Amino acid sequence: TIGMVVLDTKGSMAVGTSSSGLFMKKEGRIGDSPLSGSGFYCDSEIGGAAATGLGEDLMKGCLSYEIVRLMKEGLHPQEAANKALYDFDEKLKKLRGKSGAMSLVCMNNQGEWGIATNVEFSFVVGTDTEEVEIYVANPGP
Ligand code: ASP
Repeated sequence: TIGMVVLDTKGSMAVGTSSSGLFMKKEGRIGDSPLSGSGFYCDSEIGGAAATGLGEDLMKGCLSYEIVRLMKEGLHPQEAANKALYDFDEKLKKLRGKSGAMSLVCMNNQGEWGIATNVEFSFVVGTDTEEVEIYVANPGP
């Protein structure tokens, strides 16, 4: 899955996701990636987020919406990313006794961004003034 959050020079934001879904998925399965609030969420007055992992896990919560909600409360995107991911993972552990792999990216409408993962995941950050940077993130708040 690819999740993308963008901010233009006028302050408008958008989020996009693209996914092949789950390997060997049942016909008709719809994962988290096309679901607003779960795989993605965006509000130009606050920011946007995209999340992925096992869709059946991610759909138990509204992780992308939660990140945007936390940014609205004033958290820096990196804090929002860490809090949303680790709080939700704790919930999953209580629900079914084990962790779920998740990765997410977010940005507020000031261009500040955050990434979080509890597996290993690659993230790319690009701006109109800086060269593209590639991050390989590992678990850990
Ligand atoms: N989130 C996708 C899905 O469950 C799968 C993935 O990104 O690996 O449909």
